[in-house]
Amino acid sequence: MKRVYNFSAGPSVLPEPVLKKAADEMLCYKDSGMSVMEMSHRSKVYESIIQGAEALLRELIDIPDNYKVLFLQGGASSQFAMIPLNLIGKTGRADYVITGQWAKKAAEEAARYGEVNIVASSADKVFNYIPDLNSDNFDRGASYFHITSNNTIYGTRYTTLPDTGDVPLVSDMSSCILSEKVDVSKFGLIYAGAQKNMGPAGVTVVIIRDDLIGNSFDITPTMFKYDIHAKNNSLYNTPPTYSIYVLKLVLEWLKELGGVSVMQSINEQKAKVLYDYLDEGKMFKGTVVKKDRSLMNIPFITESEDLNAKFISEAKAAGFENLKGHRTVGGMRASIYNAMPLQGVLDLVDFMKKFERENKNV
Ligand SMILES: *Cc1c(COP(=O)(O)O)cnc(C)c1O
Repeated sequence: MKRVYNFSAGPSVLPEPVLKKAADEMLCYKDSGMSVMEMSHRSKVYESIIQGAEALLRELIDIPDNYKVLFLQGGASSQFAMIPLNLIGKTGRADYVITGQWAKKAAEEAARYGEVNIVASSADKVFNYIPDLNSDNFDRGASYFHITSNNTIYGTRYTTLPDTGDVPLVSDMSSCILSEKVDVSKFGLIYAGAQKNMGPAGVTVVIIRDDLIGNSFDITPTMFKYDIHAKNNSLYNTPPTYSIYVLKLVLEWLKELGGVSVMQSINEQKAKVLYDYLDEGKMFKGTVVKKDRSLMNIPFITESEDLNAKFISEAKAAGFENLKGHRTVGGMRASIYNAMPLQGVLDLVDFMKKFERENKNV
């Protein structure tokens, strides 16, 4: 069996011990006599899985008691609608910062249900920076203020949060949750699809402050109401049972490793290895303004499309998969989520150095 270094932006690499544990427990979970996939979501044994996942998440990122944790389906993309359908009705208005395609999609969806104020955008430079936010442009009567903490496609992240006063801050953390410490109490709502940094596709985590629950429009579909899922502890209907189980294994792995602060220092080390080389080398260049660089998604280019293509194909042959950048940026992108080991990044940089030597005069 051969496993590659998988730099996919999502679904992405999972920790090997997690995959092994899932394999071990595939046919028979504990003494249940069945696979997690086969059990009732209302059984005692499954209850221990979903409640265990929630407890671990609460512990790992220190979620205050006045927040609910929901395990939903439909991906982060469904949250683009669910958030306005539940939150925008308060005043009919919301603030959005446009830092990439996901932020743009979120704002477009919200505009179907209320008035959207675009506070700032970095579209002018293909989203290669986080715009300065001038509080004069904030709507003090907004129902909420939406940001995308880490921009998966463009490789930027917020290093400071906007001060929105009493307006609840809502963040899409799909590609950075659990990668570095965050103060959950600074947010009204945090959401993340699991398939970047938490587990397999199929489950989306929503962390929501109690007072933001229960303000949905009358027309909001039942399945899109936070209060319904909160009241039923994410068991209103069948949740994505197996994805939640693997997510729990990932959280156990992270706890074992030492938790989010240990993970953060490993992530900083990994990103530094690659960024240092991009800054020093001649052939490969990062595309993002330095102060806004992501720890998770690192886009880079060479001076020509031909050389990019040659690199991507030779890297693939050498066991470095999914390095092709997003079609709107071109070039390459290395996604180095929590589960990517430091060795993977060290080996990638060695390979890039070798490629640079061999292709200097091309
Ligand atoms: C991947 C991603 C999404 C879309 O997630 P789905 O689960 O496919 O809907 C949204 N926002 C960000 C920041 C992402 O990285």
